[in-house]
Amino acid sequence: MSVDKAFRDMIRNEIDAQLRPLRDVVSRLEAGTADLDALRSVAERLAPLAEVVGPLFGANAPAAAKAGRRGPGRPPARAAVSAAAVGGKRRGRKPAAGTEGSRACAIIGCGKPSRTKGYCAAHYQKLRMLEKTNRRPSAWKDYAEPDSVEDIKLPRGRAASKALAAAAQAGSAG
Ligand SMILES: [Zn+2]
Repeated sequence: MSVDKAFRDMIRNEIDAQLRPLRDVVSRLEAGTADLDALRSVAERLAPLAEVVGPLFGANAPAAAKAGRRGPGRPPARAAVSAAAVGGKRRGRKPAAGTEGSRACAIIGCGKPSRTKGYCAAHYQKLRMLEKTNRRPSAWKDYAEPDSVEDIKLPRGRAASKALAAAAQAGSAG
């Protein structure tokens, strides 16, 4: 029992010593001269200590959790590095995905990098729409040369529905 008490006293003294910088920062916070980096460094310093002695005092190492949590302001650089390391692959597709990323869109004057079958995202959408509505121009080939295919202007309003109807009829007839 006395050994246990001596041990606890020793731990307490150790914590007291470790808490001194925290008290220092708190008094500086009260004086308005402390910065958050100082507070963070104290928290990081205390985290391992709390992990070790926390169970002895029935605590659940809250300081360790707190140290890992993001404080206000700019996150520490370390967090960004670890996030990149953990994340590995980035989500979503890069604009220059696949084998044809270096090619330009097949549509003349578009200038965007091609993504699918030689067309940029927008023009591939248009191509698919034209195909679906049976209006795909013969020039709009798959993997057409970059900057070689003339864009077409789609009719709008009533002309659009007329064109769609005509195309649908041609599709069902042929
Ligand atoms: Zn394009």
